[in-house]
Amino acid sequence: MKLIEKTVTQLAALLEAGEVTRAEVVEAYLERIASVEEAVAAFLYVNEDRARKQARLMDEAAEGGAAVLGGVPVALKDNICTKGIPTTCGSRILEGYRPPYSATAAVRLEKAGFIMLGKTNCDEFAMGSSTENSGYHPTANPWDLRRVPGGSSGGSAAAVAAFEVPCALGSDTGGSIRQPASFCGVVGLKPTYGLVSRYGLVAFASSLDQIGPITRDVADAAAVLSVIAGHDPLDSTSARVKPVDYTHALVPDVDGLTAGVVTELSGEGVDPEVRERVGRAVEVLTELGVEVEECSLPHARYALDMYYIIAPAEASSNLARYDGTRYGYRHGVRRLAGTGEAGEAGEAGPDGVEGPGGGDSGGPGGSGRPGERLSLLDMYVATRREGFGAEVKRRIMLGTYVLSAGYYEAYYLKAQKARTLLRQDFERAFARYDFLVSPTSPTVAFPLGDRVDDPLRMYMADLCTIPANLAGIPAISVPCGFAQGLPVGLQLMGPAFSEELLLKVAFAYEQHTEHHTKKPPLLGVKRR
Ligand code: GLN
Repeated sequence: MKLIEKTVTQLAALLEAGEVTRAEVVEAYLERIASVEEAVAAFLYVNEDRARKQARLMDEAAEGGAAVLGGVPVALKDNICTKGIPTTCGSRILEGYRPPYSATAAVRLEKAGFIMLGKTNCDEFAMGSSTENSGYHPTANPWDLRRVPGGSSGGSAAAVAAFEVPCALGSDTGGSIRQPASFCGVVGLKPTYGLVSRYGLVAFASSLDQIGPITRDVADAAAVLSVIAGHDPLDSTSARVKPVDYTHALVPDVDGLTAGVVTELSGEGVDPEVRERVGRAVEVLTELGVEVEECSLPHARYALDMYYIIAPAEASSNLARYDGTRYGYRHGVRRLAGTGEAGEAGEAGPDGVEGPGGGDSGGPGGSGRPGERLSLLDMYVATRREGFGAEVKRRIMLGTYVLSAGYYEAYYLKAQKARTLLRQDFERAFARYDFLVSPTSPTVAFPLGDRVDDPLRMYMADLCTIPANLAGIPAISVPCGFAQGLPVGLQLMGPAFSEELLLKVAFAYEQHTEHHTKKPPLLGVKRR
C-alpha cells in the first residue's frame, strides 16, 4: 500500500516504529497535492515550507534519541486561525489576512505532533453546502470532478478523499462536516456543542458552530477527536469535561443497543436510492444485534426554518466586525499582509499580499481610486459591498431583518422557542433509544453549478444534519454505499457527550462493511 493511502493510525504506528521518516511522509503528500490539486482544488494555501521544516526538525530530534510524538499530516479548514499563516474563511474580505494567534484545536494538533499541510477551501464564512460560495474557486468531488464535494468544509473532505492528506478538520454549523464527508465517501464527526474549543474558529453562528475531524475511517476520527476535545478556558462555552481517549471506544460490540430511524429525516425529500442504501445499513445494524424501530421527531420538519432564522441572525452580528477598520480588506487600500499596517482610505497601499489570489491577481484589493475621499460610513459600505459575496450578504440581510424591532418576536424569538421544542423531541427520543439514524444528506453529490442560483434548493442539502446542531448533540457520518456511483452517508446521532457510543456503533458498522475501503477512480495515484 502506498504511503499516502495509510490512515492516521497506520502512519502514526509506522512513524513510531521508525519505519518511515516524517520527511518522507510529508514529501509523499506534497507530491500528491502537486499532482492532483489542479483537478481537485481542495486547498487555498499549501504550507509547504513550514511543513518540510517541521518534519525535518522532528526527524532530527528523533535521530538524536528524543521521544518524538507523531508526524502525521493534517489540513485545516480555512476558517480555523493559524498564527502567521493565511486564514481567509474563503472570503475576499480576509484575503492576505494572517492571524496573530492559532485556534486551540490547531495548537492541540501541533502539540500532538501533527504537521499542518495547508488550509482548505470552504464556502465563504462556512455559508453553503457545495463550497461553490468560496470567494476563490470551487473544489471538485474526487469521485466525479464535475460534481461538488459538498460544503461548507468541501476542501477538507475532498483533500482527505483524494489522499492529499490523511485527516483534516472542518467546522459544522448546520452539517458542514457531515454533508461533505458523505458526498466524498469519508467519515465526518460533529462533536457535542462545547466539546471542542471554538477559540480561533472564525464565528459564523456561535450557538451552533463546532470543529470536528474528517478522516478516512472511524478509528482515525476517534484518534483526532481525542487530541482536539476537552475543556479550554479561552472559550467560555467550552464544556468542563475530562480528556477522553476515544480510541478505547473502538470495540465492535453493539449487541442489545436500541436505535430509532427518524421518520422526518428519512422519507419525503430523500432520494429513493439514498433511502435504500441507508435501509440496508440499518439491516446491518440489526444483524449486529441493534434493536431498530421507526421514531418521530415531530419538530424536525421545521428545523430548516429555525436554522435559516437563527444562523443568519447570529451571523449578521458576528460579521459586523468586517468593516475595513481592523483587519482584512479595506475599500481602496491594498494592505501589507502580515504587518497589520494599512494606509488611509484612498491611498494605494504596498503590494505585499501573499497566498491565495494574492499579488495582482484581481479581487477587490486596490480597487479604490487614488485621492478618493470617503466618509467612514461610505468606507464601511464599500468595503462590505466589495469584500463579501452574494450568499454572505443574503445571510446578513436575513439576520438583520429577523432581529429588527417588530420582527424579532415574529421570527427570531419564535425560532428559538421552536428550537426548544426540537431539543425536547430529542430528549424524549433518547429516553427510549441509545442513538438515532438517518441519511446524512438527502441526495448524493450534485453537479457543480446545479444549485448555486437557487438558494432554497441549496439549503435543502442540510435537511438531515441541521437538527443535531440545533440540539447541540453529536453526530457522525460514515460511508454506507453508493448510488449512481457516488458515495452515500449514514448519519448516527446520540445524546450530548455520547461520542464514545457513536464511535463504537460507527466502528462496528464499518468493521462489517467495506464501503470505506473504496477509492475514488481518481487521477493515477503515483507509486512511491
Ligand atoms: N450549509 C449550511 C449553511 O449554509 C451549513 C453550513 C455549516 O455547517 N457551516 O449554513
